[in-house]
This record gives sequence, structure tokens and C-alpha cells, in this order.
Amino acid sequence: NTQVIYTKPPTGFPVVGETVKTSKSTIDLDAPLQKGDILLKNLVLSIDPYIRGCMRDPAIASYAPAFEYNSVLAGDTVAVVLKSDNPKFNQGDLVCGRTGLGYFEEYSHVKGTYADSNYVVRNDSKTNGLPLSYYVGILGMPGLTAYVGLNKYGRPQKGETLFVSAASGAVGQIVGQIGKTLGLYVVGSAGSDDKVEYLKELGFDGAFNYKTENIDSKLTELCPNGIDIYFDNVGGTMLEHALDHANNFGRIIGCGMISQYNTQGQYGIRNLIYVVSKRLSFDGFVVLDKENMAYEEEFIKTCTQWVLEGKVKYRETIVDGIENTPQAILDVFKGRNFGKQIVNVANL
Ligand code: NDP
Repeated sequence: NTQVIYTKPPTGFPVVGETVKTSKSTIDLDAPLQKGDILLKNLVLSIDPYIRGCMRDPAIASYAPAFEYNSVLAGDTVAVVLKSDNPKFNQGDLVCGRTGLGYFEEYSHVKGTYADSNYVVRNDSKTNGLPLSYYVGILGMPGLTAYVGLNKYGRPQKGETLFVSAASGAVGQIVGQIGKTLGLYVVGSAGSDDKVEYLKELGFDGAFNYKTENIDSKLTELCPNGIDIYFDNVGGTMLEHALDHANNFGRIIGCGMISQYNTQGQYGIRNLIYVVSKRLSFDGFVVLDKENMAYEEEFIKTCTQWVLEGKVKYRETIVDGIENTPQAILDVFKGRNFGKQIVNVANL
């Protein structure tokens, strides 16, 4: 049973084979289950940036618990039930290990109370034909993040300008497409010309490569009416530029600050005063909060329809083989993923 093991916090970027590595253990797939337990074959692992935040000293509190040293890494997963002694799960059910608590290993023997709290049956894809990976991407946590973040915290009004950073990523590409369905003028930034092309294919009104273009000039050119809503996935200098171009009474959605996750110390935003002088709302949010998760079923239903009708598209980078998980984690922080980063562990 190959497992993904987290060892200890890195000082900067996670080190492949050191901070995160794979290792073999044994699991008896024929052993009888105790009451409530389930045996899973894991199929899909979701590689999400917040994983880096869990690689910290457990004494430091945050919204998601720190990973235990030298333990199996946890995150969102899709799995099939091989055996069940739990009335909530049947053999052959597709399940999602969610809120970051599925196990990153080939097979998981999950205890009853843990299974009850952290796994949900998600047999939808058996009938709608959508890829299983969508249940940790567009129809999973990143999708819900985009939906709740933009609608609840962005308070969008038709005709407004929305700017989104890391716009081709797991969350960003959905933010932009939802923005278009709401009648917003949508601009995105991304880290390569291919990614910028993709944003234009998705119907973004403007897109630019923040690594090669002058960000200030591009925002002036592409957002002639200023920015009403900034969906911030990266923080740092991009946030400063967005503040420079923000309109009075604009909304900044603090979704993530990936540019800061592997740095030591925090970046000082030079023009935060604009929050006051431009009367901006600056709302940070965490999708896992109960009041945001409450939108999950409504979101899955709505978004499944959008996907089936071809109204919303979704790009993924899928790597095969659980042994490639440590590299896939690092890749997300280096911008090597194009769309949602997935590890395919096994097929159904
Ligand atoms: P992505 O799929 O967008 O992958 C991360 C991308 O971030 C990379 O591909 C890269 O794209 C970009 N990036 C990496 N490093 C930097 C950097 N130093 N500066 C600028 N951009 C960088 O990830 P997600 O869509 O899953 O997550 C996007 C953001 O949303 C993250 O900050 C994440 O933490 C946050 N998030 C927050 C949630 C919440 O509840 N608040 C829930 C889910 C995600 P590029 O090539 O364009 O640079």
C-alpha cells in the first residue's frame, strides 16, 4: 500500500522526497472490518495550495489543523468502497474524502466515526458520466470556493469589472466563468502565455501574463473603468496593483495569498491605506466554514448542469501514479499546473 508521508515543516518550498515522500506499508485487504468501518480503494487525490499551510508547527493555530509529523498526508480524495460494515456506505459506492481529511494512500481502512464525519457518498458520476476528478475540482472544494467567494463576498452587479489572479487555476478559471454568466467584465492574470490564451478561450474580456508584462500598464489598458471586484488568489505585489486600480466602494475577496505560502515572514502591502480612502470591503473567507459549506449541494447541482450544458469548462493537469504526489504538490507552488492539479491513483 503506497502512502504519501509528510515528515516535517519545510523552511521554504516543500522538498520532494524530504518534506513529502512516498513509502510502502502493508494492509490486509481480506481482514474483517469492525462495525462501522469501511475499506477504500483511493482513485483520485486533490492537490491544493492550503496543504502547504498544514505543513507547520502544530503549536501554530490556523483554520485547518496542522499535519502530524511522519504521518499519511490528508486532503480531498475520491475513492471506491471495496468493503463496508457501515450502513451509510455500500460496496461499489463512490465516495469523497473531504474537508481535507481523505487519506493520501492507495488503500484506506477508515474507522467508522472518521468515515461518518469525513466521507460522503457521491455516486452522481455513475449516471452523469463526468470525470471523478471533477468531484475534487469544479464540483468540489475549488468550485465551491469560486461560487461562494464571488457571489457572497464579491456582491457582483451586472456590468462591473472583476479582476482575478491565478485565473487559469482550479479556483480562478471558475471565478471568471461565473463572472461572465453574471454579466461582469472579466480580466484575469496568469503565469504563462498558454494560460492567457486559455482564459481568452473561456471568454475572459482581457487576460495578461503577469510574469512578462507590466502589470500596472496591463491593468490600465484592460480595466479602463477600474476594478470593482478583485478576487485575490495570490496576495503580494498583485494585491498592491489591484488596490491601485480599485474603484471606490470596491470589494476585495481575500481567497488566498499563494505568493506568500513559501516565504519566511509576511509581505508588507505598501498601499493598504486605499482600503480606507476608497472605502473598500476586504473580506477574507474560508470555504470550509459551516455557513459556506451550506451552499455545497446547491452549488453541485447548479454547476453540474452548467458543465453538462457546456456553459462552463474545466482544465486539469492530471499526473498518473501516487508516487508522483510529492512532485505534484511542489508543482502547484511553481505554477507548473495548468488548471486543477490532480493525481490519478487508480482507475475504477
Ligand atoms: P491553482 O490551481 O491556481 O494553482 C496555484 C497557481 O498559483 C499556480 O498554478 C500559479 O499559477 C499561481 N502561483 C503560484 N505561485 C505564485 C506566486 N508566487 N505568485 C503568483 N502566482 C502564483 O490553485 P487553486 O485554484 O487551488 O488556489 C488558488 C488560491 O485560492 C490559493 O491561494 C489557495 O490557497 C486559495 N484557496 C482558498 C480557499 C478558501 O477557502 N479561502 C479554498 C481554495 C483555494 P500562475 O502560473 O498563474 O502563476
